[in-house]
Amino acid sequence: AFTKSKTISQQRQNLPIFSVRDELLQVVRENQVVIIIGETGSGKTTQLTQYLYEYGYTVNGIIGCTQPRRVAAMSVAQRVSEEMETELGDKVGYAIRFEDATGPSTVIKYMTDGVLLRETLKDPVLEKYSIILMDEAHERSLDTDVLFGILKKVVARRRDFKLIVTSATLNGEKFSNFFGGVPIFHIPGRTFRVQICYSKTPCEDYVEAAVKQAMTIHIAGAPGDILIFLTGQDEIEATCYALSERMEQLISSTKQPVPKLLILPIYSQLPADLQAKIFQKAEDGARKCIVATNIAETSLTIDGIFYVIDTGYGKMKVYNPRMGMDALQVFPISRASADQRAGRAGRTGRTGPGTCYRLYTENAYENEMLQSPVPEIQRTNLGNVVLLLKSLKIQNLLDFDFMDPPPQDSILNSMYQLWLLGALNDVGDLTDLGRKMVKFPLDPPLAKLLLMGEQLECLSEVLTIVSMLSVPSVFFRPKDREAESDAAREKFFVPESDHLTLLNVYQQWKANEYRGDWCNDHFLQVKGLYKAREIRSQLLDILKTLKIPLTYCGPDWDVVRKTICSAYFHNAAMLKGIGEYVNCRNRMPCNLHPTSALYGSGYTPDYMVYHEAILTTKEYMQCVTAVEPHWLAELGPMLFSV
Ligand code: ADP
Ligand code: MG
Repeated sequence: AFTKSKTISQQRQNLPIFSVRDELLQVVRENQVVIIIGETGSGKTTQLTQYLYEYGYTVNGIIGCTQPRRVAAMSVAQRVSEEMETELGDKVGYAIRFEDATGPSTVIKYMTDGVLLRETLKDPVLEKYSIILMDEAHERSLDTDVLFGILKKVVARRRDFKLIVTSATLNGEKFSNFFGGVPIFHIPGRTFRVQICYSKTPCEDYVEAAVKQAMTIHIAGAPGDILIFLTGQDEIEATCYALSERMEQLISSTKQPVPKLLILPIYSQLPADLQAKIFQKAEDGARKCIVATNIAETSLTIDGIFYVIDTGYGKMKVYNPRMGMDALQVFPISRASADQRAGRAGRTGRTGPGTCYRLYTENAYENEMLQSPVPEIQRTNLGNVVLLLKSLKIQNLLDFDFMDPPPQDSILNSMYQLWLLGALNDVGDLTDLGRKMVKFPLDPPLAKLLLMGEQLECLSEVLTIVSMLSVPSVFFRPKDREAESDAAREKFFVPESDHLTLLNVYQQWKANEYRGDWCNDHFLQVKGLYKAREIRSQLLDILKTLKIPLTYCGPDWDVVRKTICSAYFHNAAMLKGIGEYVNCRNRMPCNLHPTSALYGSGYTPDYMVYHEAILTTKEYMQCVTAVEPHWLAELGPMLFSV
């Protein structure tokens, strides 16, 4: 244990931030708000909290550190607890939605910005914290942006409270000005040279191009790990699979020894034990290839990367006016992101420059990419934010102190949607329903779904559905057993509804004593189901505090469909032509997703509602339920006069 802790403390002292430890503590002591700028990997996230702790900032409260990404909150807490030689959840803990790994002795708490935002509902001045570090402020996530406005008030109301804002990019002025011109502290960085290679022509299939590039590096390149940036889970899994296939082909086609390639995915829904793997050193002679979303841009620092392959794309949640809702869409990244991605190739501890392969042209970088990403608050639905601010008694949202105010249309549109759901009344104040909805850490329609389950007396069933919708798909589809797993999945299908299919899966799992081997036999993700069960029990606790009793509707699930209709009537589609659907709102075509129980089943109801829309080349409805037209007229009379 001694040698290990020694290396850890050596590692800590080698970080750029260590050389300015005392100056940093002094600035923080002398100012209530400080902005700290430092390159990714300088030690902001893992060290600052420990310095503050060592200095004594936990005498009258605890240290909170927010992260826009859940994976970062978990992984950094893990790392810091190791550095401090305590168990995770003891002195150092983390909290993300539906998961609280903190305890009575926790003094350093990492959490998502969303978790802290919800804490302000119960404790508007954040009494239990002596200091908050808003980390990764350059990401400008929606919740971070709202926190800015709220924390500014806390700073004004509590003399004993301190705030540190950190950013990996040089936008300190903006943050400083927002707090009335507070000091900006720069952590001196080591600058690493990175050689940039552009694609000569625009690339048609960036997944294929990335796989090829990685293989070329692995076969012919100098030692050093590879980091590939892609857009999301599916793409990452496909890439990992393609890479392992190419490796197998290579091994069986040559007599030469092929060095090992350790292929490691990382994305937000990846189970925690697999996430941790990306930080482990590859064995001697092996090369790591990490296949990541933009989570590896600045939130996670992975050492030893010598090659970056940047596809130039990322996924963003964007309000889509045509669909009238948010959709995850693939976009070209900004120049700022491209530079961050390239920068990840420089942190190898060796002298030569790393290399970044950009799978796009120099012209695209210079002339087509935006300078920096559009802050989330200016591009997404604000339903949750509006509900939250309303319950913090902020009457006029247009007056709230936003660093960059969202477009007025977007506020009004979100208010309209909340009014449709019955959360706001005609003058824009919270209704009783709205006040109850805020109690749940859920998107407004899901919260409404629960509360309608109470009214229509199928709360237990709806609670299960909401929990299942809050985890990634539980259907497991291994690449080499697709037909088998599809057949297993079809056995769970309820012909009228994907929501009911989820309910069916859960109930059968329950009937089989929540067994793990049963999941494996039926191609279901054990971890996903356990998570759903845990979320269900947490939501049940909230229902209990609201004194809402659990009701069951039993085997007739029509009332469950009606309840789903009551929360999702704004996402309705109607049959038009043979097996073709159009969105009721704007009459634009929308397609059943191929994973739906209704897809290709021959059953084509006149109306259906959907949980969310995905936009790829076409607009797809994900998770649908057949509904009766008179329900739409009854439950959403302002939209339907069927
Ligand atoms: P910053 O927040 O400034 O980007 P971090 O504090 O996240 O920097 O990282 C500092 C160093 O801590 C990294 O270079 C890396 O060596 C180490 N580190 C961070 N997270 C982990 C982890 N989960 N596992 C192992 N090492 C880590
Ligand atoms: Mg960091």
